[in-house]
Amino acid sequence: MYQSFIGLEVHIHLLTKTKVFCGCRSAFGDEPNTNVCPVCMGYPGVLPSLNIESMRMGCMVARALGCRIPEKTWFERKQYFYPDMTKNYQISQFASPLGQEGYVEIEGKIGSKQIKKRIRIKECHLEEDAGKMIHTGTVSLLDYNRAGVSLLEIVTEPDMETGEEAELFIQQLRRTVRYLGVCDGNMEEGSLRADANVSINLPGKGLGRKVEIKNLNSSRFVKLGLNYEIARQGELLDAGKTVIQETRLWNENRDETQPMRQKENAQDYRYFPEPDLPVFTPDAAFLKSVDDAIVELPAPRAKRLAGDYGLSEEQADLICEEKAQADYFEDAVTEASANSLAVANTLAANKLSKKDMAARIANWLLQDIKHILGREGIELRDIGSFRLNPKRLASLTVLSASGKISGKNAKQVLEAVISEDKDPEAIIKERGWELISDPAKIAEAVQKVAAAEAATLAQARAALAEGNDKRRQTLSAFLVGKVLAATGGRADPKIAGSQIESLIQGN
Ligand code: ADP
Ligand code: MG
Ligand code: ZN
Repeated sequence: MYQSFIGLEVHIHLLTKTKVFCGCRSAFGDEPNTNVCPVCMGYPGVLPSLNIESMRMGCMVARALGCRIPEKTWFERKQYFYPDMTKNYQISQFASPLGQEGYVEIEGKIGSKQIKKRIRIKECHLEEDAGKMIHTGTVSLLDYNRAGVSLLEIVTEPDMETGEEAELFIQQLRRTVRYLGVCDGNMEEGSLRADANVSINLPGKGLGRKVEIKNLNSSRFVKLGLNYEIARQGELLDAGKTVIQETRLWNENRDETQPMRQKENAQDYRYFPEPDLPVFTPDAAFLKSVDDAIVELPAPRAKRLAGDYGLSEEQADLICEEKAQADYFEDAVTEASANSLAVANTLAANKLSKKDMAARIANWLLQDIKHILGREGIELRDIGSFRLNPKRLASLTVLSASGKISGKNAKQVLEAVISEDKDPEAIIKERGWELISDPAKIAEAVQKVAAAEAATLAQARAALAEGNDKRRQTLSAFLVGKVLAATGGRADPKIAGSQIESLIQGN
């Protein structure tokens, strides 16, 4: 069997408002050629100037990937011709990119196997994107809106071995840049795209001759393309043939890679330092602004959530899928804990623990709310502006956990909060769904039932005297049912239960 080596080059569009070297708007989907100027159209004699936000966001990613930010970083011209790039060179970074020599741990399940693996990051470099070519029939159209958009390229060392590992890397990176708020991670729109490099060799023989699969726009295609290539290259070597170093494309209709172009040795881009841009020397204030902008990342956050709130790893991972959802969850638990203290003080209810609240909120979130969001077409990232805000979910959780409303009504309240945009308390009041938890009121009903069901009560007492627990419980449940019926189903069943039990015991 062969050993395989996979290295990824991932390009992400940074969410800067303007482009990297001019003041044009940076946006997806605008009318073609409306966000352009002489700089990003590559007119002769114009001067680029660096957008500091591009540099800051790039450095945030570099730091999150454990990279070193060098004392000096600068730009080079990478020369090549293509119609989507009018200058005939791309401003990129070569000798001293903004992020160098980092690593990340990829962690997750592949099939039933839990894996944890360190992937070295070679570098992160900042560059400008090219325009977009649209081929229609016999003509090709050009849209330069994308020309000059801030692009960060993240290059890994060839440390992955399977398509699944590469998929995991992309998914994790995607989450990370979304948490940082520097990229929307939308692979279909091309905000995050990957080139996957792969070679195989006999074990111990080092790297093989690599094939590059270009422009993969989904993490699943990364996995499929790489696994296809590993198999294809294996068959070649088995047959005594050699692998040609080339660039291939993934054909998603045929589930195979196809040759695109052969690389005659390394392409010579004639890199040289961009004379129109000064060397960038990150000072202490800049580095602080980078560090200040970095939030808790998804993987450590999921670990913390599992530990702090007693969630399962799987639940924590699902909740941390989206930062907005993790924020929502933690806000709701904090609210609920504060709220439950207040409830515990006014009610005879037990104080509900934070973990108990968290477990209930996680269940709401991952089941009912997830379902409702899907039904209403609300994206998870917009959960912050959902009508059922964390405060309302917290109230609902405490109300149902403390027995103020029944479990069945709780679901109805949830729906009503969303359709009527009101607080749970208001809905419960309007509907008359509030359980009666005043012991004196319940005691009245218990007395009535004791009188009307004197025979049953006597049987229950006899069962207690005989030590026939099962029969006693059956009779007790019957009496509680009568109490609930007498209150129109609104007596708190826990309180009614304990009062009936006292009655049977003759207290
Ligand atoms: P190029 O100059 O062809 O772009 P680089 O050295 O910049 O090559 O590497 C590009 C990517 O390819 C990196 O992610 C690197 O890890 C990966 N890579 C390089 N050589 C190999 C190889 N022999 N097998 C698999 N991946 C490789
Ligand atoms: Mg390269
Ligand atoms: Zn411009």
